[in-house]
Amino acid sequence: MTNSGLLYEGKAKKMFETDDPNVLRVEYLDQVTALNGARKDITTGKAILNNQITAFIFEQFKQKNIQTHFIKKISKNEQLVEKLEIIPLEVVIRNSSAGSFAKRLAVLEGQPLEFPVLEFYYKDDSLNDPIINDDHVKILKIATEQEIATIKREGHIINQALITLFKEIGIRLIDFKVEFGRRKDGSILLADEITPDTCRLWDEKTNAHLDKDVYRKNIGEIVPVYQEVLDRLENTFY
Ligand code: ADP
Ligand code: UDP
Repeated sequence: MTNSGLLYEGKAKKMFETDDPNVLRVEYLDQVTALNGARKDITTGKAILNNQITAFIFEQFKQKNIQTHFIKKISKNEQLVEKLEIIPLEVVIRNSSAGSFAKRLAVLEGQPLEFPVLEFYYKDDSLNDPIINDDHVKILKIATEQEIATIKREGHIINQALITLFKEIGIRLIDFKVEFGRRKDGSILLADEITPDTCRLWDEKTNAHLDKDVYRKNIGEIVPVYQEVLDRLENTFY
């Protein structure tokens, strides 16, 4: 695969222009990172798994009338998506305490939260993706009040759909991150990816981590764990 038409090379994916100005080709990478890219490794097989897992989840969302940028998977590690103007927010929704929430607020990891907690992080590597509130989003002109409302509403719908999906395969959805983008007509839809890189997924029975925390915490190999998530999805839903 050449890099011709490369628009952006990120930590987990490369984004390419296509003949259609409204369509991007996404190439998933085997690279895994932590600490905003400061720690980096190659894990052969992750790209194929994440491409399949995202495609699977976005196809499920289509059936539930949740709109996403996903068009189709075109190879083992590539998919086509609608090109959007990405809103530079990492929208995190938490059902149980973990990660930065557990640390910052001293809430025991794994503690279920009374209601899903939605947080915004400003997607800016030079600032280290700081947590921000609605006023910050508005004052920085990242999104309008109406767009914030849409993002929150969609975020909670996505959370409920994911909780249900993962529950069916014996997984507890602890938290996850999503990104949204604008179409030219101003409508907002789910973009980027939903994979074990962007979710915390705990086995319902054993509390084993089935996500990137295996890498973050240095407690094992991620590829077999991501494969387990895909196998459970495929065995349950096909
Ligand atoms: P990062 O930028 O954090 O290193 P990735 O390696 O996943 O992340 O790069 C993918 C990039 O593509 C992200 O910056 C993401 O916001 C952007 N992106 C995702 N979906 C779309 C889309 N539909 N249109 C345009 N850009 C997108
Ligand atoms: N997350 C992500 N990308 C990021 C930061 C976080 O996908 O750049 C996901 C992460 O996998 C977890 C959720 O967002 O599912 C909440 O992450 P947290 O704020 O706890 O940050 P972390 O401690 O993982 O950096």
